Amino acid sequence: MLKGKAAIITGSTSGIGLGIARKLAAAGADIMLNGFGDATEIEAVRQAIETDFGVKALYSPADMGKPDQIAAMVANAEQAFGAVDILVNNAGIQHTALVENFPAERWETIIAINLSAVFYGTQAVLPGMKARNWGRIINIASAHGLVASAQKAAYVAAKHGVVGLTKVVALETAESGITCNAICPGWVLTPLVQKQIDALAARENISLAEAQVKLLSEKQPSRQFTTPDQLGDLAVFLCSEAAGNIKGASLPVDGGWTAQ
Ligand code: NAD
Repeated sequence: MLKGKAAIITGSTSGIGLGIARKLAAAGADIMLNGFGDATEIEAVRQAIETDFGVKALYSPADMGKPDQIAAMVANAEQAFGAVDILVNNAGIQHTALVENFPAERWETIIAINLSAVFYGTQAVLPGMKARNWGRIINIASAHGLVASAQKAAYVAAKHGVVGLTKVVALETAESGITCNAICPGWVLTPLVQKQIDALAARENISLAEAQVKLLSEKQPSRQFTTPDQLGDLAVFLCSEAAGNIKGASLPVDGGWTAQ
């Protein structure tokens, strides 16, 4: 379905981004991976995409906190693939603290990576998408783009910002073949969430298994984690022609979290 299309997935060296990258590749898209990590592991992930799915896979080490590096990553992908048809803005980080204790540096960095990078990436891909009259921009927001939790000021502010920015981009491209939507996952068992499970287990002196159940029970009525594969399949659907008139939506995949 996506043969001949090229996709950038930010923050795709692990977790949700990697799950989405592999599903887009399985659908035939060439892939530009991005994110941090061990160089040998990243190269293995890149090669596996090429051999498993017979597509081209490249890797960009661009830091999503640096606007000039985001623009360079998009320019490199356009040069290598001839176009960027799909942009998945996924890179994100977390920090938990009460507002009065929240380190200013963490606030600035989370806003830069989780929100401003979505703006700069979108700005860089739109001219090419408009020229070809086709594009898919998929922003990985969060249940925290729709509702809040204590101790997550920067993350919740950034993700609510992403949901708003998604609507603006959808309106500005409404009459074109471009769509911009947000996916709002609940808990997904990735390194980002594992850190929160570890902290909960340590704080309450309970086992990791008990902490997992507690974390889910507090927010996610299904008591099941959403999986990167489920999010990848939704991203592929959003790239389909069937989804061509879904514009500016924020789609929860959260086991009922935001239905409460
Ligand atoms: P993760 O920690 O497994 O992966 C984050 C990815 O972002 C990694 O590839 C990392 O290298 C990359 N990254 C971090 N800082 C970067 C930077 N400055 N520049 C480029 N890449 C950078 O996390 P995840 O859980 O897969 O999260 C992915 C996205 O999904 C995030 O935006 C997160 O907010 C969102 N999300 C996650 C959950 C969840 O439960 N895990 C729920 C809702 C939303």
